[in-house]
Amino acid sequence: MIRLAVSIQGVVQGVGFRPFVHGAATKRGLCGWVQNGTEGVRIEVQGDAEAVRGFVQALRDEAPPAARIEHLVTAELPPRPEVGFAIVTSQNGAAARPTLPPDLSTCGDCIAEVESPGERRHRYPFTNCTQCGPRYTLIERLPYDRPNTSMVRFALCPMCRREYENPTDRRFHAQPIACPACGPSLRLLSPDGAALASGDEALGLGVAALHEGRVLALKGLGGFQLLVDATSAKAVARLRERKRREEKPFAVMFLSVADVRDICIVGAEEEALLLSAAAPIVLVRRCAGSAVAENVAPKNPLLGAMLPYTPLHRLLLAQANRPLVCTSGNLSEEPMCTEEDEALVRLRDIADLLLVHDRPIVRPVDDSVARVGLRGPQVLRRARGYAPLPYPFLVGPSVLALGGQLKSTVTLVKDGHAVVSQHLGDLFSPEGVMLLERTVKDLLTFFDAKPEVVACDLHPEYASTRLAERLASEWRVPLERVQHHHAHVAACVAEHRLQGPVLGLVWDGSGLGTDGTLWGGEALVVDGAVFERAAHLRPFSLPGGERAIREPRRAALGLVFEAFGASAAKMLAAMFTDADLSVLQGMLERGLQSPRTTSMGRLFDGVAALAGVRQRAGFEGQAAMELEFAADGVDDRTAYPLPLRDGSPALADWEPLLRAVLFDVERGLGPAAISARFHNALAELAEATALRAGIPRVVLSGGCFQNLRLAHAIHHRLVARGFEVYLPELFPPNDGGLSLGQAYVAAMRRKEGRCASVSPVK
Ligand code: ZN
Ligand code: ZN
Ligand code: FE
Repeated sequence: MIRLAVSIQGVVQGVGFRPFVHGAATKRGLCGWVQNGTEGVRIEVQGDAEAVRGFVQALRDEAPPAARIEHLVTAELPPRPEVGFAIVTSQNGAAARPTLPPDLSTCGDCIAEVESPGERRHRYPFTNCTQCGPRYTLIERLPYDRPNTSMVRFALCPMCRREYENPTDRRFHAQPIACPACGPSLRLLSPDGAALASGDEALGLGVAALHEGRVLALKGLGGFQLLVDATSAKAVARLRERKRREEKPFAVMFLSVADVRDICIVGAEEEALLLSAAAPIVLVRRCAGSAVAENVAPKNPLLGAMLPYTPLHRLLLAQANRPLVCTSGNLSEEPMCTEEDEALVRLRDIADLLLVHDRPIVRPVDDSVARVGLRGPQVLRRARGYAPLPYPFLVGPSVLALGGQLKSTVTLVKDGHAVVSQHLGDLFSPEGVMLLERTVKDLLTFFDAKPEVVACDLHPEYASTRLAERLASEWRVPLERVQHHHAHVAACVAEHRLQGPVLGLVWDGSGLGTDGTLWGGEALVVDGAVFERAAHLRPFSLPGGERAIREPRRAALGLVFEAFGASAAKMLAAMFTDADLSVLQGMLERGLQSPRTTSMGRLFDGVAALAGVRQRAGFEGQAAMELEFAADGVDDRTAYPLPLRDGSPALADWEPLLRAVLFDVERGLGPAAISARFHNALAELAEATALRAGIPRVVLSGGCFQNLRLAHAIHHRLVARGFEVYLPELFPPNDGGLSLGQAYVAAMRRKEGRCASVSPVK
């Protein structure tokens, strides 16, 4: 007879862990107890020595799929008289540790139940269990117990209570447990707030509206979404017009993998991602003859597909009997609405009807976006299903990093873990900035953290930088400003836990450099807290600055002006009106509102404009994406000349490339070949840069590496040359990864005893 104390840390709350422990103990005839604490899960177990050992082994081998054990420690205790195995109430008060579970997609058992006419949860949209259902979107504070969630307002009915208290039931201690008798329910509202129907009737009328081509606002899991019939070009056009989103692709929800496969190519890895508990939007390739309307993702060979991740979505999809566009309920790039009152104001002019429920959403959590990248799954937008899973990090001071301005996230470091918030969107609107502040408060409360360092970008105008300055001075802690591209590399270094120097090829739209210009085509040698600029694109001017993001032709003009001076205007006369051209040329000549940049994203834009792909863009990166897709299936081995000129830093001179592109355009070569040759040139440049730097490990990051053709080509060449190549996988390569990288650099500066670059403490 022995008695063991077992303490477990990791993702062990809200994933059915305690019922699993209970089952594993009683199956072996052991007695003792299990308890959720703010430190994780604590167990004491007693019985036959062999059985206890088997039990501990089972904790590791048989844990529920969504659980993740990071530390498991045992200690022997003196046996004591005890009968049975109990789940005891959670303990409060101890220092909180990151053990917040993410929201989990509906499990197979719950789906079966919702679909069985005899069950009491037949067609119940809020069915869940210990293996699935809402978590992060309803937790107010830790530990994860029902009174600490937004389910507190729903008193359990006797049947649900019995399930909740029965250790052999799969809803044993399922905190969001609910049924038609006691749980949340549906209502259908008109845009003026009038209640039109409830329950199944509300669902049916919502579906009927979708069939008529109308826009349905749905209060989902992590916020409001906008739904329309994905097979109707008219319905999709209506949504685009009202949401003021001209061309950016919409995601589509399908009832099953088989339905996705009807119109897209779904490999085994894509299927696994679609079916995973996180259930992200997965980028898949469309086949010809797609039943989904062309304007869902105009001029895009990819489609963002996802499966229903709540019973509510599943019921809607089944009854609609067709794929549905499913996009965030907001105006472009603002945060999602989470409450009815707010939705009735903000979505009034977008939605024809609102299908809502009475379970409060504690915080907005958007759908995640992932794809199968070079070496397996790659997360491009990290939100529902992934956030806020903690990630092992340097042990050191607690750090709060505020991220960038676009695709914003916040990272909190505490006790050797980094918690990266869900994707918060862009910070141009007051709502966006409020959400950023709220998320900071949220994370600090959850993890009971008092950051000793605050980190942010170098850019003084980012809303995140301003908040960082305010917080650092309020808390009287140092502020670490981290260069944008340094942070991009550092995020990948932190993810792969790399030690020592790496060469980072960081290609993106732009970020402020240490010389006050806009960087974005950078090769940085990064060694923890420090970096050196090894090479960059030759600088050029962007007439109108940020406006160039929406007008790739401006990047083209900037490049041509840099190379040919005054004759540029004549060369690009076809792209502009005479008036526009003389204004822009004047700006370039006098250097007015024409910031200098080394941006790779803008070089992509410029080449796309010259190749005739597009002169104006509906969203950042659209021209670059279309240029990438233009080369689909093209096997042209020619590479434009893009020499790396010696210097410190070395300079990637795009002028020979520009001349070659202009020559090819002149002689009528199409965008497909131009794109292929441009991509080849960049792959050669990457190789030359890596060989020159001579550092065995290379990190590829920045928004441009969402371009799979580019990532593939460079990866292939570098690996053939014997380099180890790393890409961001769990965290986005775009600005969504910045906060993690900033946190890493700030932590390394502390560790290496480097002073804060700026100390606001007076
Ligand atoms: Zn379930
Ligand atoms: Zn009930
Ligand atoms: Fe960036």
